[in-house]
Amino acid sequence: MRTRFAPSPTGPLHLGHAYCAILAHDMAQAAGGTFLLRIEDIDRTRARPKWEAQIFDDLHWLGLRWPDPVMRQSARLDDYSAALAKLQAMGLLYRCTCKRRDIEAAADAPQEGSGPVFGPDGLVYPGTCRSLDRDDADAALRLNMEKALSFLGEATLSFEDTSPRHAGRHEITPDELIHRVGDIVLARRDMGTSYHLSVVVDDAAQGMTDVVRGEDLFEATRIHVLLQALLDLPTPRYHHHRLIRDENGKRLAKRDDARAIAKYRAEGLSPADIRSLVGLPAPVSPDNPTASEQEPTDRSQTPTRRKPDQAFPRSSRT
Ligand SMILES: [Zn+2]
Repeated sequence: MRTRFAPSPTGPLHLGHAYCAILAHDMAQAAGGTFLLRIEDIDRTRARPKWEAQIFDDLHWLGLRWPDPVMRQSARLDDYSAALAKLQAMGLLYRCTCKRRDIEAAADAPQEGSGPVFGPDGLVYPGTCRSLDRDDADAALRLNMEKALSFLGEATLSFEDTSPRHAGRHEITPDELIHRVGDIVLARRDMGTSYHLSVVVDDAAQGMTDVVRGEDLFEATRIHVLLQALLDLPTPRYHHHRLIRDENGKRLAKRDDARAIAKYRAEGLSPADIRSLVGLPAPVSPDNPTASEQEPTDRSQTPTRRKPDQAFPRSSRT
């Protein structure tokens, strides 16, 4: 088994990241496999070396270890270009110069029928540039979803999820890809790639067998499985874990400094305290060989709901 944790160095790691990283690490450990780290720093306007350093430090402190060298997406732009060139040669990409407001206006237009539809990337693209043959050098590249599906022909797309909540095989229908995902951007004009393309190329390059990540990415997995089929890459198993929420039930965000691992460290909590805050058992050890293969399936088991006062110690502790 090969798992990974793939943070973006755009802010501090919080409890939600710790949960994901520890779970991926423990799953690999329990299976005698390998846990890898990947730094997703393609957004050069937001990635910062200081956050990357903090991520390494926090993960080490949590007791996680991984082999070197760490993969950095900023060093892999040639690989992303090669994947795009392959899709381009298959005739599946087209240039798009639409701004967000153009897409909103087109999606709102009455002749588009059922009104705006939201997919994993926000508004489903209404297809304005699909037949326009734009030649602007700084255009975004979109996937022509209908062409992509006809390229795949009768192939059925599906993936297996191993998490308690989403356990089983999930089929992906052409209808949902066309109407609920649509012509997604595969290369943003500002970075020459996209989250979807990079993550698919990198998971294959790192030989990932099990992708462990939050269930907020469940819908995006349809896109990733499609890209794997188009690029002739293997589809790993997925494990879409529950999200760690604050005491109000809101999922934690990068800007949520109150839940930053660094802050808990400064308050004197131990790595074991962090594990118990997010509802994970003690590390895998000879005494406890199968540790965290199971995660709580019931939302009410999250410490945020059960013991709100203990779940997030306030700075009054100090
Ligand atoms: Zn466009």
